[in-house]
Amino acid sequence: MKIISSANELKKYLREQNKSIGYVPTMGALHEGHISLIREARKNNALVVVSIFVNPTQFLAGEDLQKYPRRDEADKKICELAGVDIVFMPDTQALYFDDEVKIVAPNVRGYVLEGATRPGHFSGVLRVVMKLLNIVKPTHAYFGKKDAQQLNLIELMVKHYFLDVTIVPVDTVRDSDGLALSSRNVYLSKEERQEALKIPKSLYHASKMISNGIIATQEIEAEMLAILEPLEVGYVAIVNREFEVVKEVSVGNCIILVEALVGSTRLLDNIWL
Ligand code: AMP
Repeated sequence: MKIISSANELKKYLREQNKSIGYVPTMGALHEGHISLIREARKNNALVVVSIFVNPTQFLAGEDLQKYPRRDEADKKICELAGVDIVFMPDTQALYFDDEVKIVAPNVRGYVLEGATRPGHFSGVLRVVMKLLNIVKPTHAYFGKKDAQQLNLIELMVKHYFLDVTIVPVDTVRDSDGLALSSRNVYLSKEERQEALKIPKSLYHASKMISNGIIATQEIEAEMLAILEPLEVGYVAIVNREFEVVKEVSVGNCIILVEALVGSTRLLDNIWL
């Protein structure tokens, strides 16, 4: 497994190989969710590239950029065991320039839900993903459905900027208690983790209501909010695949999303129906 930190060196190496490339961008502190993306990439590509970069431009002032978990050595081992060919670990200077040309998130879809809670966050995400996709030029790039709005915006960027890559969505991996895996789960105390389970419980309850024939989203959201109490809920939303809020659930075109604060940790989860 090669470890590369220079963008130009990685570009040169990958172009010389001239093989299909599966690419998994991450911020490190790798867990089974990331590994599941790597496995998907391994299945369909000759080369698998993973990047580990805690992207400063997607953190808002006062967020957890400084304390975001960094586990470079463990991450390299995990990548090696998962059959990764190249780990790209740039520092900020390797990716960003002074006064640079910027990609910004769309005015509507980039500023609802997670974009409303974290205004500007998605501009930072799109900016770095555009750079990374241009450096790696993957055949396929793998993103988790757990970050549904991020995935949707990246698909839009690929379309709007005519990028030559297939985006592959990957299902959310959960712990045995139902909590969606996240690098931020390490911030949770034992008690907070128990409280956090209200999030998957509320989603499970929503899916049960829908299988019992209840499709009015207001009714479903009200019951979800009751389950989530007393957590500070950022949003509970039921949207279609275009991320428009809907009044009725239509199975096959529906995502139920929750964002809630547990202690001081903001957690995201969703289910796709
Ligand atoms: P992150 O390191 O948190 O930026 O995540 C890197 C990629 O892994 C993103 O595409 C995430 O959506 C994806 N991811 C994070 N958590 C999970 C999970 N529990 N299951 C599947 N994919 C995930």
